[in-house]
Order: sequence, then C-alpha cells, then structure tokens
Amino acid sequence: MEQLMLVNVTEEIVQGLVKFLLYGNEYQTFCHCEQCILDITAIALNALAPRYVTSSQWRDTVFREMNTPEHLEEINKQIIRAIHVIGSNPHHRSEPNK
Ligand SMILES: [Zn+2]
Repeated sequence: MEQLMLVNVTEEIVQGLVKFLLYGNEYQTFCHCEQCILDITAIALNALAPRYVTSSQWRDTVFREMNTPEHLEEINKQIIRAIHVIGSNPHHRSEPNK
C-alpha cells in the first residue's frame, strides 16, 4: 500500500535550489549557517505558491510540472531576493560562519 504523505513540492524544490545557489560560485562568500539557509528558504517560500501533495505519484507529477524553465526562473528569482534580504539583515548571531 502506498505510503501517505503531506509534502509541499515547492518546499522540496526551494530547499534544493537554496543549497545549490549558496554553494555555487556566486554566493561563495555568503554566510552558510543553518539560520541563514532556513531564513532564505522561508522568505522565498512565503513568496511562492505551495504545491501540497499526498502521494509519491502525485509528487512526481507536480515535480514534472514545476520542473520547467518558467517555474524554475520564478523560484530562482524569489530565492535570490531572499538571499539579499537576509544578506542585508542576517538573523544569525554575530560569530563568523563556516
Ligand atoms: Zn548565517
């Protein structure tokens, strides 16, 4: 029997892309602490429509729908906006980061 779940596919995609962007060349010097990563993810997600699903089959369908240049561009745009918001006003304490 199929395992029930409650998953926001947008959240899964954003979590992956936030790490991808932060560990890419452009944001090498940006803080990589857990607080900043979570803050960026939350701010980006608040600006994007959630896509909740309850089965892995449904999740695959939605994932394919979201995995288009237009959707990914919008998601990227919101993540970059969130990186700037957190970059100019980080919530982490002042100790240096990894
Ligand atoms: Zn930080």
